Amino acid sequence: MDPMAEWIADQSARQPDLPRSGRPWLGVHYACAGVYGRVIQDRSGTCYYTTCPRCSKRCTIRVGSGGTSNRMFTVSCSALGG
Ligand SMILES: [Zn+2]
Repeated sequence: MDPMAEWIADQSARQPDLPRSGRPWLGVHYACAGVYGRVIQDRSGTCYYTTCPRCSKRCTIRVGSGGTSNRMFTVSCSALGG
């Protein structure tokens, strides 16, 4: 089962928070949909999988040593292709 992002409908609700699972997460801005979301880390601990709430395109955010330290990503569907 794919991990599902937990959507935050209200942007004002963007507060640092831990998911019930205790796994780390990233804040994501979906430029396509104009909303913010929260993506829970994959079990592997190396990826974050998310799906655009508007057009259902899939996006994979990879993390790792030497990777970005950003905690907020912008997902632009037009740049994902497919
Ligand atoms: Zn989209």
